[in-house]
Amino acid sequence: MSLTIDSDIRYVKGVGEKRAQLFGKLGAGSVGALLRLYPRSYEDWSRPYSIAQAPFNEVCCVKATVAAPVKEHRIRAGMVLYRTQATDGESLLQITLFNNRFAASALQEGEAYLFYGKITGTARKREMSAPEIRRASVGQGIHPVYPQTQGLSTKMIEMAVGQAFRGLGDSLADPLPTPLRQAYSLCHLRYALENVHFPESYEALAIARQRLIFEELLTLQLGLLRLRMGTVVKTNLVLGKDESEPFFSLLPFSPTGAQRRAVEEAVRDMKSGKAMNRLLQGDVGSGKTAVAAALCYCAVKNGWQAAMMAPTEILAGQHYRSLSGLLAPAGVRVALLTGSTKAAEKRKIREALAAGEIGLLVGTHSLLQEEVRFSRLGLVVTDEQHRFGVEQRAVLAAKGEQVHMLVMSATPIPRTLALIIYGDLDISVLDELPPGRRQVQTLVMGTGKRERVYAFLKKEMDAGRQAYIVCPLVEEGDGGLTSAEQYAKTLKEGPFSAYSVGLLHGKLKPKQKEQVMAQFQEGSLSLLVATTVIEVGVDVPNATVMVIENAERFGLSQLHQLRGRVGRGKEQSYCILISDARNEAAVRRLKAMRSTSDGFRIADEDLKLRGPGDFFGQRQHGLPELRIADMAEDVEVLRSAQAAARGILQLDPSLSAPEHEGLRRAVEALFDSVGERGLN
Ligand code: ADP
Ligand code: MG
Repeated sequence: MSLTIDSDIRYVKGVGEKRAQLFGKLGAGSVGALLRLYPRSYEDWSRPYSIAQAPFNEVCCVKATVAAPVKEHRIRAGMVLYRTQATDGESLLQITLFNNRFAASALQEGEAYLFYGKITGTARKREMSAPEIRRASVGQGIHPVYPQTQGLSTKMIEMAVGQAFRGLGDSLADPLPTPLRQAYSLCHLRYALENVHFPESYEALAIARQRLIFEELLTLQLGLLRLRMGTVVKTNLVLGKDESEPFFSLLPFSPTGAQRRAVEEAVRDMKSGKAMNRLLQGDVGSGKTAVAAALCYCAVKNGWQAAMMAPTEILAGQHYRSLSGLLAPAGVRVALLTGSTKAAEKRKIREALAAGEIGLLVGTHSLLQEEVRFSRLGLVVTDEQHRFGVEQRAVLAAKGEQVHMLVMSATPIPRTLALIIYGDLDISVLDELPPGRRQVQTLVMGTGKRERVYAFLKKEMDAGRQAYIVCPLVEEGDGGLTSAEQYAKTLKEGPFSAYSVGLLHGKLKPKQKEQVMAQFQEGSLSLLVATTVIEVGVDVPNATVMVIENAERFGLSQLHQLRGRVGRGKEQSYCILISDARNEAAVRRLKAMRSTSDGFRIADEDLKLRGPGDFFGQRQHGLPELRIADMAEDVEVLRSAQAAARGILQLDPSLSAPEHEGLRRAVEALFDSVGERGLN
């Protein structure tokens, strides 16, 4: 029976009903999907060694002929050894199999095999235990290793893929139009798939991968660009007058060039008659809040209301204080709504909001509640958006009609990646820090130097400045690490008894957190022992020292965020990373922290160290999962795929031309997996 791409997997020779179900679980329910189940890695069986030349204790492939009948040794209940000798005519190799009757019975005396495993023993008595075995007549080559699950071995998958190719015959249409393949020097799909599963050589594999990576990134880009075209919606919210200059004159500082540019870009959006969808990216301390404030001011002065949502009560409270400080004198009423706002106060806020008396509402997730209604919502700002899901942004936006949206991200990401992840957003970048900032001096110290660190902290606090100490844990527990609670107590009773020490962690009630933060902000606490709840956004310019205990436990971007809590004022600031870690990855992270303070470079390094899966793991970006492309490694291909996607959509925005049929289907399939989650 001949197969097509759409054939059910159970029609592939050797895959019965039962196995078909297992393939289904792997996402390979059809022949087409099976062929897109790419190997995770490869085993090189293409250049077998002779026995004498094979290296010891390294996985390798040896070619030899079985020279004796297989002997069975029953060691104890449940343990049977099968032994035989193999030879290549010059040397002998002892082969041992454990409990593997199936493999043992397949070995025939006088037949040549490839044995894949580690050679142990001595030069006079070489052994290989539990090797993988293939007949030499068919086994030579580069073999795929599949990500296996639920009872499907990598060999079973390999066999099914081989059968699928045989069943397909020559019928394998390429979704990439020929002129496109020629323009980007890409091989045909058939060649690519055959060689990604069964590479003729490593060169062929590279050619195959190149093409498949391009195809995947092209599909992704096409999907994102189309999505973006779809998100361009008309709005009646057209900004009449740009009020940013009057707002700037309210600020105690003059805005940086980058801040002005970002405001201009957003104002242009809001004047355009189309709803703004803009991402504001900037390193810690680059002044994103002031940009948001300028836009909220414009919105309110144009008769709209604005909402700003922050992920934590601490941040919401802080935004509220600074924004109301700036905007209230200018006649804008600002209110704060969080989970801990009292019921009576909440009611008052809701009424004033519905009546249009409140210009800017700052808050947490509480803003999303159904009872929160605006009279004319025009602008929605979300801070530190990676903490919010897509739906949450949509819920807030739905409280108005075609509102303008500004999304702020505190995790700088390389621009090409931003284009992917936020493919449906326009991007403004704050690539300039406010003047007068001094670089935070970063030091790495072993725990043995802690006394010196304390002495240094005292010196700073005696000079009227404040400091943070961050610990990874709230409570006593794992690995003998000191908890923030215990640590704060020890410090209060010991070295810092003469200082006011506060404690901040995620398990405190919101009100308590508020209080501690407020005390630190107004300076009545000198030292704040905290967990990573202070990681994002907190702004206390008088704090000049950030000490991070067990620094090896934090990711690079997180360390950078924490460091961003200091260096916000005029004084020289310090970040002291305490760690005795010796492991390579941790050492590299700490080194990177010492060598740069540029958030974009840190992000690059973080991406390299962790890989995109982890890097983006915490953010709910809702991107389809990539099977072969790697966002960190394949940046060059990504660029050309971006260019190609733009070219294609310019000519055929709906991908309805016959030659784009395959691409359109690929886009639909890729984004199907995203489904309801949507993007961002
Ligand atoms: P982030 O981008 O990390 O959110 P913030 O908005 O919290 O940064 O701003 C960091 C600090 O810099 C704040 O204390 C803010 O008042 C100050 N700031 C912002 N813009 C300027 C500027 N143009 N000149 C001087 N200080 C500024
Ligand atoms: Mg911020």
